[in-house]
Amino acid sequence: MAYIPQVRDAKFNLFEWLEIDSILKHPLFSDFKKDDLEMIVDEASKLARNAIAPTNVDGDRIGAKYDNGRVIVPASFKKVFDDVASNGYIGSTANPEFGGMGLPECVGTAINEFIIGANCALSLCLLLTRGTAHLIESFGSEDLKNLICEKMNTGIWAGTMCLTEPQAGSDLGDIKTKAIKQPDGSYHIEGQKIFITWGEHELTENIIHAVLARTPEAPVGAKGLSLFCVPKVRINPDGTLGEDNNVTCGGIEGKMGIHGSPTCTLIFGEKGATKGWLLGRERLGLLYMFQMMNAARYEVGLQGLAVASASYENALSYAKERKQGRPYDNKDPHHPQIFIIGHPEIKRTLLEQKSTLEAMRALQFYTAFCMDKAKTSEGEEKNYYQGYVELFTPICKAFCTDNGFQITSMAMQCYGGYGYTKEMPAEQSLRDARIAPVYEGTNYIQAQDLVLSKFKMQKGEPVRALLKMIKEKAQSLLNDQFFSKCAKNLLDAVELTSNVAEKMMAQEKDLLFISLNAYPMLMMMGETLSGYFLLSQAEIAKKKLQEIKESSNKDEKTLLEENEDVKFYHNKVVSAIFYSSRILPFVKARYESIKEDKSAMDVIF
Ligand SMILES: Cc1cc2nc3c(=O)[nH]c(=O)nc-3n(C[C@H](O)[C@H](O)[C@H](O)COP(=O)(O)OP(=O)(O)OC[C@H]3O[C@@H](n4cnc5c(N)ncnc54)[C@H](O)[C@@H]3O)c2cc1C
Repeated sequence: MAYIPQVRDAKFNLFEWLEIDSILKHPLFSDFKKDDLEMIVDEASKLARNAIAPTNVDGDRIGAKYDNGRVIVPASFKKVFDDVASNGYIGSTANPEFGGMGLPECVGTAINEFIIGANCALSLCLLLTRGTAHLIESFGSEDLKNLICEKMNTGIWAGTMCLTEPQAGSDLGDIKTKAIKQPDGSYHIEGQKIFITWGEHELTENIIHAVLARTPEAPVGAKGLSLFCVPKVRINPDGTLGEDNNVTCGGIEGKMGIHGSPTCTLIFGEKGATKGWLLGRERLGLLYMFQMMNAARYEVGLQGLAVASASYENALSYAKERKQGRPYDNKDPHHPQIFIIGHPEIKRTLLEQKSTLEAMRALQFYTAFCMDKAKTSEGEEKNYYQGYVELFTPICKAFCTDNGFQITSMAMQCYGGYGYTKEMPAEQSLRDARIAPVYEGTNYIQAQDLVLSKFKMQKGEPVRALLKMIKEKAQSLLNDQFFSKCAKNLLDAVELTSNVAEKMMAQEKDLLFISLNAYPMLMMMGETLSGYFLLSQAEIAKKKLQEIKESSNKDEKTLLEENEDVKFYHNKVVSAIFYSSRILPFVKARYESIKEDKSAMDVIF
């Protein structure tokens, strides 16, 4: 089935909901006019749909293959990788000084959502390449920046993130890979990394690995780690490729999904010296690495959205084609079979998928917009938006990936038995979606980051400001003719969420309460934010609907049938009502469930 990118909703987020004009005024983005941006979004969606998506099945069925140190990915990947690179999409938001397009992050989000939705396995290579390039730009020497960054942002070379080792997964403080300083200022890297995404392949002539390693005298734990730039092939001072750098791929994992993305074991310094170049200063490696990890956490959240959105769209198309059963209110066997979209249960589950996806998209776009605001403002305003970016990052990652998986599962359910077969795309999406809650810091690690670190940032100012903003929005609509019920549900949710957040901030000593409830807290935050975003989008949609109706002499029914915008705005309003009535009440259930219960600590396994 075809990939259907959600261009209309992306454009609604960018041009009707977010105040994009406020960032386009800034010199950083003032070269871009709205029309240019719309065109860029349209073009990216076409490439995703027409060129990238057809390679997705190759990724799954052929997959990446290991052959005596070499890793071969499906042949169709090379052409689309080069297409993506030549269109500038690897470095779409990167610095133009280093080969990037310099687009706002929120526009990059639209482009990336489409590419990920079209082929998630391939998109991981792009994520890691731009992330490594940005690390080198931020912390590398002038020589490294000039030799490497442009080549990566333009897809001549690729990149990876080498953190995990057999004994060091969630806790990177146990990393053992060694880095030994050499008289020429470089380091010899010795050790083994596992699970390295796109750690070896032949799509590009070189791969630049960002490696966390420990120098001989460094203390144990995370504070002893330093960050190194380790090329697969050494780079001559004039930028040409030199000797092989002895980075060996020892094998790739056989895994449940994203088969097109090779997950590699890499061995450094076994065949001969592997040279690495220090980024920044020794022992600050993990701190630097957080730049890449945070960007990757945000983008893995986008994966949750993109894969699920693709799956939902396919399920929706199927539901309009598959005939089965009779109407719920007419079981006469003489009645012709109906399309399954006519069953209230199918409609309900599709709407649950749609409304949650729209909330996830709003969260991702809003977070990207905050990144842009932080880049284009100063002082208190900058702090405010930066605080939101940091607060939202673990929520984007965990909320969008866990919901993403649930949605791909709901989408599969809409097909009945056919969904479980390889004939339909639902089963690949479900398998591809399952990794996102795991890697880039498991979702539980995200929840801990939220409550133990992000809640306490700036003495709790960002989380309090956010919850206050939501409360004020809910209160302002309590007497609204149309949205009062939604506002009441949102107010209930935000009050309970604030209550638990305050309790967590106050009860620093009750670490058990925090540890047991970090994840439900993260979900309460995600659901409350979703209710807020959907309501604020619905308000705009309602106004636009009103304007169209007033300027037309057609009745509502005709407009709904004929006018795609009317249908879009109408459905936006329905999404907000559905989410508020059927999902927001779960915030109360979560609140009740975590108030006192500590039974998990009583079980004897
Ligand atoms: C397909 C794939 C691609 C990957 N790509 C990369 C990559 O490119 N680069 C890279 O460096 N790594 C990569 N990884 C590794 C990935 O980031 C780790 O698998 C992940 O961080 C978890 O580490 P672990 O597997 O060692 O699990 P563990 O750390 O052993 O965790 C096991 C379980 O225990 C829980 N847990 C662990 N610690 C705590 C704690 N303190 N409190 C509560 N619960 C805890 C975890 O949430 C998890 O549920 C990849 C993994 C996969 C599967």
